Amino acid sequence: MTNPASTTPNTTTPRLAERAVHAARTYRTADRDGFYRRHDTPEEWNRWARRARVARTIATALRVPVDAVLVTNDPHRTYRTRTGPVPGDLITVTDPLSGRAWRFIPDVTTPGDGWLLLDRCPDCEAEIPATRVASLADLSQYLDPDDEISPADEARDTSLHRPGCTFALPTVGD
Ligand SMILES: [Zn+2]
Repeated sequence: MTNPASTTPNTTTPRLAERAVHAARTYRTADRDGFYRRHDTPEEWNRWARRARVARTIATALRVPVDAVLVTNDPHRTYRTRTGPVPGDLITVTDPLSGRAWRFIPDVTTPGDGWLLLDRCPDCEAEIPATRVASLADLSQYLDPDDEISPADEARDTSLHRPGCTFALPTVGD
């Protein structure tokens, strides 16, 4: 006796419980402290929940599963708030098909709606916020430009580049 097709479990898509276990393991590996301390204070929980929203938003914009997005503390950037500096968000999107990881930071000019793609400087290879991304089309334009790429203003910040880099723009007084 066989089950009707409508009740046959789909064996190719992991079930909710399996995906939940996988998501927790991924966070425990990538951000052990953040994961275990998320219930410690209202602020920690707030940050955790906000980052979950960030993951949903960028996953939708780039049309990847939410499971492909990790939002962790940015080890290099902090942001000023009324209650003092807080670690920034480092957003890692791992392409489920190729395994390639893409890293983003928030674009403070479009909070919640856009991000800055981190990439290597074409001259000195330092990591820089290379271009603004709000949609898949922006990423495409950066990867496969049909015109000159317009780098984000932040990409030219001399302090991010190695001395003598020709891509960086000297700031007044340098
Ligand atoms: Zn450079």
